[in-house]
Amino acid sequence: MLEKENILEIDYSKFHCSKISHQTFDCTLILDLITQDFKHIPSEIIGESFLNRPIQLLKIGKGDIKVLLWSQMHGDEPTATAAIFDILTFLSSDQSLALDLLQRLSLYFIPAVNPDGLESFTRRNAQQIDVNRDFLSLQSPEANILKNTFEVIKPDFAFNLHDQSNLYTNTLNNLVGMAFLAPPSDSKLNITWNRTQAMKVIVEMNHLVQKLIPLQTAKFKDEFEPRAFGDNFQKACPTILIESGFLPHDHEKQEIRKLNFYAIIKAFHAIGFQTYQEIDLLNYAIIPSQSINSIHLKISNCHIKTKNGNFKVDIGLNYTSSFKPKERSLEKQFKIVELGDLKDLIAHQKIDAEDYVFEGDFEIERLANFKLKNESGEILHEWKLGTQIR
Ligand SMILES: [Zn+2]
Repeated sequence: MLEKENILEIDYSKFHCSKISHQTFDCTLILDLITQDFKHIPSEIIGESFLNRPIQLLKIGKGDIKVLLWSQMHGDEPTATAAIFDILTFLSSDQSLALDLLQRLSLYFIPAVNPDGLESFTRRNAQQIDVNRDFLSLQSPEANILKNTFEVIKPDFAFNLHDQSNLYTNTLNNLVGMAFLAPPSDSKLNITWNRTQAMKVIVEMNHLVQKLIPLQTAKFKDEFEPRAFGDNFQKACPTILIESGFLPHDHEKQEIRKLNFYAIIKAFHAIGFQTYQEIDLLNYAIIPSQSINSIHLKISNCHIKTKNGNFKVDIGLNYTSSFKPKERSLEKQFKIVELGDLKDLIAHQKIDAEDYVFEGDFEIERLANFKLKNESGEILHEWKLGTQIR
């Protein structure tokens, strides 16, 4: 039976759009994909960014239920954009589920709402405006275009696709691979009919994603932001926020991209076949919440020698990523952010320095500038002014 279809039986490798292989792809690639590789899918330019880059909408399917998805309104949040092209590859195939979905749904995709931010790999647009805080004042062309497109299409379901900080952990103490929210549409956080529909679809997605990354999903913070798009669109139709998180060793977030592929196809199935209507909302309530409660690197048992005495501490470091436009690459700068007993702190990466010699600067809130040597004097790890050089 189609209703019982196991979405995870879809062979992702067949539909992976291999032209996107890292996070810092540029606008030319997206434009080439839309106008060449995916030219069989009708697309239109729905407007231009502040720097006159085209903003594209693709439409596929001829069903009665209209679904609008948009990604990268924050230019440095590219994971779901890549997944959109995987999903479009699947929908262009002769798989029976793809054909069924296109009979039932009309799917509208805006892969990059903020192409200027995409090009410069910045959250904000070229005016330095956060497009997702511009719903009310509409000072950015990107916000105007998204709002107009929504009003013209009048979707039955909307999906707002983002990446969140990679430092979130859920109440089960795991790093969060993927977070969801049915955003509230008022400051009282009322559970409106639209929200309940969004919650039910989220339960279906969460259930599927849990099979791939058990206990590593979460609910995004349930707060009303009057200037944000999801919160306002929720008044008009069920709207779902998906936040791509982080998995250890998945630095280019290609695993999370795959999770987006499965989760969104699951949502299309739930909406197309109306399976979500049977979901008990309790299953949404029990999705764990999340908070920023981890660090990027923990170096345990550092032996610190000072003129006033010697002692042993754990050092916690976080990095910020700076974008190098010429190479289109990200460079990490590490800073010491925590010191002391960090045994219970979750870290993306851990080093035990019990048997090492610590040599260099030791100061909180400063760029990492030290090395770890073994007893024979060989340098095993080194950071110079924030940059890890070995
Ligand atoms: Zn975002």
